[in-house]
Order: sequence, then C-alpha cells, then structure tokens
Amino acid sequence: MRKPPKVFRCPSCDTISVTVSIDDDEVVILCSNCGLVLRMGRMKNYELVHYYNVFIDRYYSGELSVKGEEVEGREVSQ
Ligand SMILES: [Zn+2]
Repeated sequence: MRKPPKVFRCPSCDTISVTVSIDDDEVVILCSNCGLVLRMGRMKNYELVHYYNVFIDRYYSGELSVKGEEVEGREVSQ
C-alpha cells in the first residue's frame, strides 16, 4: 500500500516542491525547485511529515546545502 505523494514547502526557496522518498533503508527529502536535499536513515514509526520536520530542523541549524553536501549527521536506526 503506497500513500499518495505529498509535497511540502521548502524552507529555502519557499515553494511547495519538497518530496520525501522512502527507500529500503534510506530516506531522501528533496526540493525539486532549489535542490536542497537531506538523506537520512529510516526511522521507526516515522511518517512523511516527520522526515520533513527533520529536514526543516536541519535546514535551520545550517546543516543542509543545496548540493547534497550536507554535514553528515547520519541517523542509524539499528
Ligand atoms: Zn527549495
């Protein structure tokens, strides 16, 4: 069962362009407009909006770049 795609507001460019893709063991939160991106491990019981909240937090703490060169703060869920 797949949830319908949700698109969130980007904290950097302020457009509704942020998607959350969940793979087997990695989650990619990406703004398709400005390229702001966060890759992180999957978290138990997290829903899309929770990953989005992490994205926002990381952005405001200065840990994200628009080229995928985020300061590494990788969560390991195991
Ligand atoms: Zn953006």
